[in-house]
Amino acid sequence: MPELPEVETIRRDLEKKIAGQKIKSAGILATKSVHNKSVEFLKFLVGNNFSHIERRGKLLMFALKKVGKYAFMLVHLKMTGQLIYRHKKQILAGGHSQTAMDTTVPNKFTRVIFTFSDGGQLFFNDLRRFGYLKLVSKEEKEKIVKNNFGIEPLTPDYTLEAFEKLFKKRQTNVKALLLNQKLISGIGNIYADEACFDARILPFRKVSSLTKEEIRKLFSVIEHVLKLSIKHRGTTFNNYVDSDGNTGSHISFLNVYGRAGEKCKKCKSIILKNKHAGRGTHYCVKCQK
Ligand SMILES: [Zn+2]
Repeated sequence: MPELPEVETIRRDLEKKIAGQKIKSAGILATKSVHNKSVEFLKFLVGNNFSHIERRGKLLMFALKKVGKYAFMLVHLKMTGQLIYRHKKQILAGGHSQTAMDTTVPNKFTRVIFTFSDGGQLFFNDLRRFGYLKLVSKEEKEKIVKNNFGIEPLTPDYTLEAFEKLFKKRQTNVKALLLNQKLISGIGNIYADEACFDARILPFRKVSSLTKEEIRKLFSVIEHVLKLSIKHRGTTFNNYVDSDGNTGSHISFLNVYGRAGEKCKKCKSIILKNKHAGRGTHYCVKCQK
């Protein structure tokens, strides 16, 4: 699943292509992927355009120029969602790829298609159909953001004070806290493990055992880890391609994630992997305490 850096990369690239382009036509191939009535969804979007794209955690929010009952189209890629933009011979893909990189569109996984006035087309593909598109009002969007997303790294609401508060009176472990989108948004399995390594903290420690200094360290490495990954256009394994069709290049910078059985880059101990907070967790017992 793409995490904050990957979704931010899609957002930046896609915005450059579609902002201000009139939606000439739209088609829904799978009603399950659209959380509005099909007729209403299409009626509201055709003739409209997306003015810009916002993001909160892993949720994309396409702002509509003509605002009425709705003001935003939400897009969540979930496990297997994919956004592919095609204009003439240029193809940009972001999110998951069903095969190594099947950007022949439309294909059997295409659920929604938008055609813009300049001839560009945007395809929403989704193998497992957990992802969705949904038109919402400005109030609904704000409510969704408020109820589902915690503090957002790389924004002004991510402060040490707000971060420290998350650790008070909690029984959970560090990994589970970092993965909880209602507390901190956008961090998934990759960056949770990487942040713990950089902060030299074992991910399965109880949050109540962390010293003030360790919390401070974790706070700052999260920002560093995410910024660095955005710079490299996200981390890529075999099923993620960014919207320029490149695979992200951050993988070679990872210290622990996906490296179980390999040697730690710092101390040469073997990187271990266990299940914590329901997810495979990678760590170095020597570097992390
Ligand atoms: Zn180590």
